[in-house]
Amino acid sequence: AAAAPEQAPAPVLAMHNIRHAYGHHLAVEDVGLEVRPGEVVCLLGPSGCGKTTLLRIVAGLEVLQQGRVDLDGRPIGRPGQAHLPPEKRNVGLAFQDSALFPHLSVLQNVGFGLESLPAKERRKRALELLDQLGMGRFAESYPHMLSGGQQQRVALARALAPAPRLMLLDEPFSSLDARLRDRIRDDTLHVLKKVGAGALLVTHDPEEAMFMADRIALMRDGHIVQMGTPRELYCAPVDPFVVTFFGEVNELEGTVRDGRVDTPVGEVMAHGLEEGARARVMIRPEALRVVALEEPPADHHSHVIMAKLLGRTSLLHICAHGGGSESHLHARVPGVFLPEEGQPVTIRLDPSQVFVFPATAGA
Ligand code: ATP
Repeated sequence: AAAAPEQAPAPVLAMHNIRHAYGHHLAVEDVGLEVRPGEVVCLLGPSGCGKTTLLRIVAGLEVLQQGRVDLDGRPIGRPGQAHLPPEKRNVGLAFQDSALFPHLSVLQNVGFGLESLPAKERRKRALELLDQLGMGRFAESYPHMLSGGQQQRVALARALAPAPRLMLLDEPFSSLDARLRDRIRDDTLHVLKKVGAGALLVTHDPEEAMFMADRIALMRDGHIVQMGTPRELYCAPVDPFVVTFFGEVNELEGTVRDGRVDTPVGEVMAHGLEEGARARVMIRPEALRVVALEEPPADHHSHVIMAKLLGRTSLLHICAHGGGSESHLHARVPGVFLPEEGQPVTIRLDPSQVFVFPATAGA
């Protein structure tokens, strides 16, 4: 007999075949996903792709129109019929516009969902969460005394306080400035993992998704395009949309010969493409290793057009010659590397940052 497969823990959220329309406008179609206990799943995608709609269906703020949603293994109801009301779902909500109760102190806000606990324990639990999110010293303040980012953290603590099995977070860090955001993301992830809650987090920021998520569902036009770990999406993108969503890329076209495509920066493998087919070659700027040549051979042509320091990286515009053709490419190299205009260079490719698709893919 075959070895028993490893038992995965039952999902805290399972969605199957979800479809949702606003009037004639189809917002989400054929979406399925699972969140397991302690797992953070990010819904990532451009504005309007249907992320918030999915979250609102799970929260019970939109009526399920088609498909199935199970919370902790139990269906929330059948499409179009009465379903489990939002407050009975044991789900924590932290939405962009989550308002605090203005007449309650920070501590009272966070303790709000803990009426079942004795006062002393309620206070202890609320203080603990506020501390973890760096807000302990504001326990006695009132919401109007806090900045937007501080209010967001209190809203997060309030949502986490009842230790829900599932947290739903919609752009919860959007009103924080860049430096604070990094810290609060870190703290939030720490608290989520400690509480062991599953989380479904909406963001349009690929870096935030990469940092927060165990798995990412990348969406486009109401569909999930690819679901996987951050590394799978970044290193094994299924189509050109996934590649470009993680940042600017160089695009070249070529013809497949002997399973390869020749480009001005060398040959690249064309797995799964037919001989003679046209190929779309996508090269991340980080894939180009640029070396300045002090004594270039007479027939050498690749050279720098422009170099700019961006901070941690330098951006180079390069004119690359090779294989009988010429291309303008962008390269991003670590640190300060600012060769003069016209500087001859050689370029090496990191093949793990190069992706080849049929020329029609994503057109
Ligand atoms: P964003 O990142 O901008 O918040 P999103 O990915 O969360 O976008 P949704 O808010 O789920 O996208 O919207 C999906 C689509 O449904 C969009 O085209 C939007 O215009 C439309 N839509 C959302 N809510 C409604 C509504 N209440 N009535 C009509 N159309 C809506």
